[in-house]
This record gives sequence, C-alpha cells and structure tokens, in this order.
Amino acid sequence: MRTVIAGGGLVGLTTAASLQLIGHEVTVLEQAPRVRAAGAGIGLWPNALREFDRIGVGADVRGMGGEIDAWFFDAAGRPLRTPGHHESDHQFLLVPRPGLNSLLADTVGRDRILLDARVTGYTERESEVVVHLAGGAELHADLLIGADGVHSRVRAELVPGSAATAHAGHYAWRAVVPAGDERPEGTVLTIGRERTRGGYARVAQGRTMWMVNQFDAGPLTGTKRDRALRRARHLAEAGWHDDLLEMIATTPEEAILENAIMLVPPLSRWTSGRVALVGDAAHGLSPHISAGGTLGIEDAGVLRASLAAGPDTARALARYEDARTARFDQVREHAAAVEHATGAAEFAQRYAAFSHWMLSTAPTT
Ligand SMILES: Cc1cc2nc3c(=O)[nH]c(=O)nc-3n(C[C@H](O)[C@H](O)[C@H](O)COP(=O)(O)OP(=O)(O)OC[C@H]3O[C@@H](n4cnc5c(N)ncnc54)[C@H](O)[C@@H]3O)c2cc1C
Repeated sequence: MRTVIAGGGLVGLTTAASLQLIGHEVTVLEQAPRVRAAGAGIGLWPNALREFDRIGVGADVRGMGGEIDAWFFDAAGRPLRTPGHHESDHQFLLVPRPGLNSLLADTVGRDRILLDARVTGYTERESEVVVHLAGGAELHADLLIGADGVHSRVRAELVPGSAATAHAGHYAWRAVVPAGDERPEGTVLTIGRERTRGGYARVAQGRTMWMVNQFDAGPLTGTKRDRALRRARHLAEAGWHDDLLEMIATTPEEAILENAIMLVPPLSRWTSGRVALVGDAAHGLSPHISAGGTLGIEDAGVLRASLAAGPDTARALARYEDARTARFDQVREHAAAVEHATGAAEFAQRYAAFSHWMLSTAPTT
C-alpha cells in the first residue's frame, strides 16, 4: 500500500513507523526544511509508550526522558491529595521534543521523508488519492493521512469549515534550562490563583523544564519573560516557588516559548474512503490535560490495527473513525470538567479522574 503522510511532526512520524510495521510503503511530506519539533519537553503517558515499544523505540525514548510523579500542589506548596486514585494515575515520562522527533525520523528512514514539501490539497478518486504540493508537484497514493497539525490542510478539504479557533485568553509559556539546585522531584503540577497552572520538572540529561499556563490571561504586555513571571507569581505564595521565579527571571528571552492555545472543533468525520486524520489535525486539544500528543500516538496504533485487520481500506478507516470519535467524545468531557473545576483541589481530583480514565480504557492494539 502506498501511503502518504502529510506532516512530519510527532504523530505523523509515529504513524509512518506504525504503518511500516504492517508493510505500507510510506512517504512523509513535511513543509519545513528539516524535521523539527516546536516545544520544550512533552509528557508521554504509558499508553503512548506502548506504541513506541511496538515500533521498537520504547527503550530509547525511556532513556532520553525523565520519570515524573505529577503530584498536585496549591499555590502555597501544600500537596493536594486525590482520594481514590493510585500513584500510577500520576506518572508519565517527560521527554525533550527535538530528540524525540529526530529518533522517530531515523526510525522511519530519512529517505522516506520529503522536506520543503507543503501539501496544498488532494483529489480523491475511487482507485487512488492524488496529493498536491506547493510548486505543482503531485504524488499518487492509495492512502493519505493528514498529520499536519491544528491548521491542517487535509482537514480543511475533508471537513470544510473546521478551522481551528483560539481558546480565548489561554496561553502557555515554557523553557528548558540547565538544572540547578531546585527540588529534583519537581513541583508539577502547581494549581495557583487566577486560573494559573505550572511548575517545573527535571528532564533527563541535567535539564529542567519550567512551564506556566493561564486561562483568561488578559492583555499581554512586556517581554515574554515579563508575561510568564507575572503569571508565575500566582503559583508562588509564601516563598514556595522562589526557585521557579528565579528560573524564569534568568531564562534568556529567546529561549522562552509562548503559545496562544488553539482548538480543533469536534468534526463530523475523520475519514473518507482513502483519507484519514490523526493527531492535532483531528483533535487539537487544550494542553491543560497534557495528553494531546499521547492520544495522537494512540491514533497511530488504532489506525495500524484497523488497517491490519482486513484488506478493505474504506472499512478499516470507518472502524478507526468510530473508535476514535467515541473516545474523543469522552476526552472532551473530561477536558471540560478539568477546565471548569472550582479551585485547586477540584482541579486535581478531576485531572486524576481523567488520567485514570485515559490509562484504564486505552486501546490495546
Ligand atoms: C503548551 C503545550 C503543552 C503540551 N503538553 C503536552 C504533554 O505534556 N503531553 C502530550 O501528550 N501532549 C501535549 N501537548 C499536545 C502535543 O504537543 C500535540 O498534541 C502534538 O505535538 C501534536 O503532534 P502532531 O504531529 O499531530 O502535530 P504537530 O506537532 O503540529 O506537527 C504537524 C507537522 O505538520 C507539518 N505541516 C503542517 N502543515 C503542513 C502542510 N500543509 N504540508 C506539509 N506539512 C505540514 C508541520 O510543519 C509539523 O511538522 C501540548 C501542547 C501544547 C501547546
């Protein structure tokens, strides 16, 4: 099967490796001049690591990341307990993004990835799908996977009118800095005042990642550092988190990432006869549940298993769509419940309910 994957990000590359496992001849089209990963570190949950084990990179990924016990704290550093939830509901691996995407690109094979290749659209026929590239080139394939992120071109054609919208007022700031003498066990996740969340955690190889997020952030003024620091003070009562404030104050401005959060609306479909969406292209979510990438990696596993189950591509894609849209109806309910929690304790409780649900109901592919 000739499969073209639009987008060489985390989920596109994982999907490429997953489909190679079942014999697909894969071509990844990436618009950027090199494989890269915007972002600092990503938290990967065990359901994502299982697919990495399948494609043979699980041990390498675990080796490049740091295990995190994501206990919750309030703004004064008091631990928030989540009765009824087990330690494993709070444990994930924090992995530096650039190294991860580079490992995945090596696994797929650099010769299978075309760079500077921007998909502009496609034409679907009964016998094939023709993928159109900027500059006029075309690729003929049996299957097209849209893994081209929140502003997906493939989604724009498959589901017209599904443009991503801003999660109004929701911003995230983060950076990876050299580890210092801050608490090695980290302070993730501190749930502060003014709908702010954040903290820091050790990424492997002597580096620490700090992050600050706020719903309803109000007007942004000053440098990125000023903006992040102002919000971080909501996480730092009574001296708790002086080290976070210091870390942000000494981070070079150019090392700070600032994101306005975008959301993909629920879609009327994820697939057609020869086209399927995966990752943020299908379900760009708010990062307050720290699981969009993990769930995108799940997409890759479910798609692989559906396509392996029978020769009829259209039926396989329909099975994939049914399974994923049902799961994402529930993801969205959990995400909304966490977002609208009143106070730190309820936020922690609802977050733990989400991670427990995600892990205990993850597809076994
Ligand atoms: C602040 C923040 C924190 C997060 N934290 C976590 C976390 O801890 N854990 C977690 O699981 N998830 C997390 N997420 C979510 C996670 O980052 C995303 O879900 C994940 O990166 C999506 O991967 P993707 O490959 O689908 O999309 P992307 O990473 O956006 O990749 C899309 C790729 O497609 C390319 N592309 C786009 N358009 C075209 C085109 N027309 N033609 C060719 N190529 C194209 C792009 O250049 C890019 O390389 C977080 C998100 C944010 C914003």
